[in-house]
Amino acid sequence: MSFELSDRLKNLPPYLFVEIDKAKRKAKSQGRDIIDLGIGDPDEATPAEVVESLHKAAQDPKNQHYPLDEGIPELRKRIAQWYKTRFGVTLDADKEVLVLIGSKEGIAHLPLAFINPGDVSLIPDPCYPPYKGGTILSGGRVHTMPLLEENNFLPDLNAIKKNVLKKAKLLYINYPNNPTSAVCEKGFFEDVALFAKKHDLIVAHDAAYSEVAFDGYRPGSFLKVAGAMDAGVEFHSLSKTCNMTGWRIGFVCGNGRIVSAIAKVKSNIDSGAFNALQVAGITALDISEKHTERMNMIYQERRDALVDGLNKVGWPTRKPKATFYVWTRIPKKYKFSIECARVALEKADIVITPGIGMGRSGEGYVRMALTVSKERIQEAVERLKKVL
Ligand SMILES: *Cc1c(COP(=O)(O)O)cnc(C)c1O
Repeated sequence: MSFELSDRLKNLPPYLFVEIDKAKRKAKSQGRDIIDLGIGDPDEATPAEVVESLHKAAQDPKNQHYPLDEGIPELRKRIAQWYKTRFGVTLDADKEVLVLIGSKEGIAHLPLAFINPGDVSLIPDPCYPPYKGGTILSGGRVHTMPLLEENNFLPDLNAIKKNVLKKAKLLYINYPNNPTSAVCEKGFFEDVALFAKKHDLIVAHDAAYSEVAFDGYRPGSFLKVAGAMDAGVEFHSLSKTCNMTGWRIGFVCGNGRIVSAIAKVKSNIDSGAFNALQVAGITALDISEKHTERMNMIYQERRDALVDGLNKVGWPTRKPKATFYVWTRIPKKYKFSIECARVALEKADIVITPGIGMGRSGEGYVRMALTVSKERIQEAVERLKKVL
């Protein structure tokens, strides 16, 4: 048997971290003291109230059956209420809110609802990989929009060629942005909504980091700007907002026809999120304001320790306003980000993410995650001198 893989699988972009992953595992097995700034996974615990809420809900037999495809009404209502208070956006909890098994699932399933073979998704570069993966798995083509520092890491919509736009159906955006940690103004969302209307595009805004922001800054919702509800949807997740990456609870809100199309794909693939988790999700939204205030103080301290530290040792780096990533140019002595990441691991026992791994325009940069303690970050800065 040849077990020939489908073209869809074969067309997925190659995984570029094989070598670094191997080196990392080897270093750990040798007992070396590795500081891992590579993963975007909060190190702090899920709030105890949320764990308690799951514990209770899991014991209730009514939560032990197949869930409703679209999510329990109580959670959808709570999400709509959260959108109202947090963003000033009014949503119909029955038609414009869908619970997801983590936002990645919805982000990757969206193209299956709208992309035919040969259709194009417009995707920022560098980016969170599922935008590309979901598009390719549905037979679509990826057109990348470079996120360049000189444009404040915003895509240049006017640079997209007419023949590409004719084939384009989806436009992914993500602010606050992973990996560049850039934020955007309301004006950018307005431009996107207008652009989408003009070219008949569906906008998918990934707002996974809307609650991780510093210095008093609070990111807004795409759905708040004029025309957005006609043009698109917004993805959210409790993963980063409430330290729940392992729990897998997210949601998508916005245009009812797009939301119901994603629901239709999902009803053929999964049967929704565990009811007890959804109950815990309500608790997470109840406490999210208090929780994020505490977490953002922690991340902000770490950000300052890392960025001030890097600048002091001679690695010029800017302070991000949001996300728990620091995105910085590699020192001049390196030509490639992967080389810089390799040296960081070999000489300093530090894992960082080479920018090229997130897309071609990520070359020349590395990403460092603020998901280790301030003390470890200070230690990392000391060690990183060896990389310069
Ligand atoms: C972490 C992350 C998500 C969230 O994924 P979940 O599936 O909800 O855990 C979504 N988008 C981006 C850009 C992320 O970094």
